[in-house]
Formats: sequence, structure tokens, C-alpha cells
Amino acid sequence: MGAEDPRESLPIENVLIIGSGPAGYTAAIYAARANLQPLLITGFSRGGIPGGQLMTTTHVENFPGFPNGVLGPDLMDLFKAQALRWGTHFLEADAESIDLSSHPFVVKANGDFYKTNTLIIATGASANRLGVPHEDVFWSKGISACAICDGATPQFRSEELAVVGGGDSACEEAVYLTKYGSHVHLLVRSDRLRASAAMADRVIANHEITVHWNTDVVDVEGSEWLSAIRLKSSNSSNERLLPVKGLFYAIGHTPNTDLIKNQLECDLNGYLLTRPGRPETSLEGVFAAGDVADSEWRQGITAASSGCKAALAAERWLSHKGLAKRVIRKSVEPESAESPEASHATSPPEFDPNGLWQLGSYALRKLYHESEKPLLVVYSSPSCGPCHVLKPQLKRLISEFDGAVQGVEINIEVDEAIASQAGITGTPTVQLFKLKALKKQWQGVKQRSEFREEINHHI
Ligand SMILES: Cc1cc2nc3c(=O)[nH]c(=O)nc-3n(C[C@H](O)[C@H](O)[C@H](O)COP(=O)(O)OP(=O)(O)OC[C@H]3O[C@@H](n4cnc5c(N)ncnc54)[C@H](O)[C@@H]3O)c2cc1C
Repeated sequence: MGAEDPRESLPIENVLIIGSGPAGYTAAIYAARANLQPLLITGFSRGGIPGGQLMTTTHVENFPGFPNGVLGPDLMDLFKAQALRWGTHFLEADAESIDLSSHPFVVKANGDFYKTNTLIIATGASANRLGVPHEDVFWSKGISACAICDGATPQFRSEELAVVGGGDSACEEAVYLTKYGSHVHLLVRSDRLRASAAMADRVIANHEITVHWNTDVVDVEGSEWLSAIRLKSSNSSNERLLPVKGLFYAIGHTPNTDLIKNQLECDLNGYLLTRPGRPETSLEGVFAAGDVADSEWRQGITAASSGCKAALAAERWLSHKGLAKRVIRKSVEPESAESPEASHATSPPEFDPNGLWQLGSYALRKLYHESEKPLLVVYSSPSCGPCHVLKPQLKRLISEFDGAVQGVEINIEVDEAIASQAGITGTPTVQLFKLKALKKQWQGVKQRSEFREEINHHI
């Protein structure tokens, strides 16, 4: 007899949700309130960061309930807190494979297998790249897919910048960058903008933006940092150089459906097909929510609404099949959700030489000069979604070291000079110091294990 398949003995989830954008979190809130204790695999880097696309924007002005607007990352922190409050279990990882060939379905994440009676796919869509020859060389050294995350960094301030694209995102980013750059060039492939009329009018009327019509990006150039873009007009073969220090991509998205290719019906562009106006996919027990199944509307509120439908449909399906295993709550009303913390710089009287996590230039100076412990310096900005993802992870990691490591957060919008001196080119950036020596630097969101391993070398 062959060895027993370890997957046979796995517990079976009621509802497994993949993706933590507005669609995934809303599905989690509804499934959790139905006492189904969903498991939510948040994603990590494969198809966007935990919290999804709204983590890469600043002011969301059209999400109902926020009359004065809300920062995208703050909004997603609230979604998460609500899903957590009702008992959602989270796994902060990418789903690596999905097997729908038999029921219960099997999902692999972080090397482990998870079985589930219903599956909600809410994996959203990922930003497209141009694929020009030197793109990789200048990625994060002048090229960014997120103006909102990186626009405030010192390298872009008072410099000429460019945005490529012609839709709403491109226009929004061009306008946003005028706050930081000396001038913004919007590079549009055709002779018109695809953005809404109001947005297009705002861009065209803005003297700080030059629109380059019928223009293709051929390549990027520079030495240590991007210094120019090679452009070609679509109606001539002549190339020209546009000197800029920043190039921001806003050229659309690809749905994150690679894991279910050939298992579920998709349209020609890879978007999941569902029953018209409903969340059911081509396979019973599998539901889709959000941008992954919506090539047309692609908004926070439409994604949230479809997440709601997917969870309600999954609950009905489980009940109909007699498969729902409801959890019994200790009390009807769960404890209040923790409110996202407001952060302010640590003042001299507040400074604690043994503090695990402090903020601002005063704490940095004191610890840099006086602490003998490894010091993690995190450069962030309030509107940077990846910073919202990384900071709680680092705080948890530092607390695991039981006082042997300290952390300082620098808000680059407040402490611009420090960020510039430290050569920070984007947020989040993390630097590890020991006895004033820089030991390692990371940019972007990384696994906790990567930081842990490096810190262990310096304790
Ligand atoms: C710059 C910008 C500005 C925007 N501004 C607005 C706005 O003002 N108002 C508005 O309503 N909408 C706005 N949108 C659109 C809005 O962000 C999207 O419509 C919405 O986020 C879609 O939600 P979603 O849950 O479907 O997917 P997403 O938000 O894309 O989330 C997808 C999730 O799936 C996860 N994932 C992907 N692959 C995997 C995998 N293999 N395993 C596990 N997880 C995975 C990702 O990590 C992510 O958590 C904006 C979008 C952008 C890019």
C-alpha cells in the first residue's frame, strides 16, 4: 500500500478567500458574521500587497461613508480590523497553487495545504509594465509603478517627472506629482485621453503638465539613477530624449488568474467569467469577487459589493449542501476593533533609551549615537500602503527579540533632510545599523524571516 496522502487528514474550511482587497475583506466580514470563520489568504507580493490596490493610492474621495475622503491605506486598515473583529483567520502569504479537480478544493500557501468546501477568488489585478530594454536597471531607481507611494521621496522633488498612460490613473498620478516635481510630462500613446472627461480637462488645463500625444517610450537611460527617457513619435521614426528623474507607470492591469487557468472559465483577457450579475464561476462552490472578474467597473465599492455577494452565495451553497460548520461565539457581540494608531514623533521627554519602537529624528539621533543594540530604521510616508503592511510586521518581529533590537520610524514627509542624507529612494526602506555602521538595507515589503535572519547575525 502507498503512503497516506497527508492532505487526507486536513481540516476542511467552510470558506477560503484568496485576496485582501475590498472584495476579499468584505467577503470575510460577511462570512465571519455568518459564523463561518473564514480563512483569508491575504497575498504578499505575487499579485499585489495585502490590502490590494487601494494601498497604492492617497485620497479615496468616492467610497461612501467618508464625506471628507479617506487615505486608501487607512481605509484598508479599517476593512481589515472589521474582518478581524468578527473572527476571520488570516494567513499572510501568497496562494501558490489551487486544485479544483476534486471537492473539497485544495489551496497551497506558504508550503502548506488548505482544504475548503467553498472558495472565493478575490485576487484583483496587477499593474502592467512596459518591458523596455533597461526597465529592470532603473526599476526603483527612477521608475516606479506607484506615484502615490514614491512621489514624495527626495529624489523626485523639484525634478522633471513623467507619467506614462492615458487613463484615469495616469491623469490622477500626473496631477498628484505636480505637488513634488518641477514639471510633469504625460506620455500618451494615442491622440486622446481615455480618462473621464472631468479628469482629462483637469490635466489639460494644468500648466504644470505637458501632454505628449502619439508618443511611445522606447527605452530609459541614466547612470546610477534614471536621467532620460527615449521617446518615439508614433507617426515618425525619429527618436528623442526627454530628460526626467522619474518615470511613473500607469498603463493598466492584468487580472490575477494564473492559478486557475484551465480550471475555470475566463474571458480573452484572463478575467474570470461568472454568471451574469452573480458571483458563481463555472464551477460549483467557487465564487469570484472584485476586479479579478470585472474588467469594466473596477472600483473599491463595486469590489466590496461583489465580495458581499460572493460570501452570501457561499453561505447559501454550504447551507443547501448541509456542509456549513458554524462556530459558536462566547459572546454575541465581539470586542471592539482596535482603532488604527495615530503616530507622532517621539519628543525628548517621551524618549525611552530602551523603547522598542519610537518615531522621528530625535529618537533616531539618540539611538544611533547611544544604543549598542541593532537598530532598524524604517523610512515611511503616511500615504504609502506598503508601509502600512510592513510596520506591524516589523513591530511584531522586534517584540519577538525581547528588547535586544530597537526600531525607529522616520516619516520622510516630515524628516525630508534625514531621508535625503540617508539616500532614500522610495518607501518603505529599512536600514539595519549596529554601532553606527549600516549593516543592511531593504526596499519594499519583505518576509519577516529575511529581517530576522540578518538581525540574528548582529546580536
Ligand atoms: C492608483 C489607484 C487608485 C485608485 N483609486 C480608487 C478610488 O479612488 N476609488 C475607488 O473606488 N477605486 C479606486 N481604485 C480601484 C480599486 O483600487 C480597485 O477597484 C479595488 O481595489 C479592487 O479590489 P479587489 O479586492 O478586487 O482587488 P485588489 O484591490 O487588487 O486586491 C487583490 C488582492 O489579492 C491578492 N492576491 C493576488 N494574487 C494572490 C495570490 N496568488 N495569493 C493570495 N493573494 C493574492 C493581493 O495581494 C490583494 O490583496 C484605484 C486603483 C488604483 C490602482
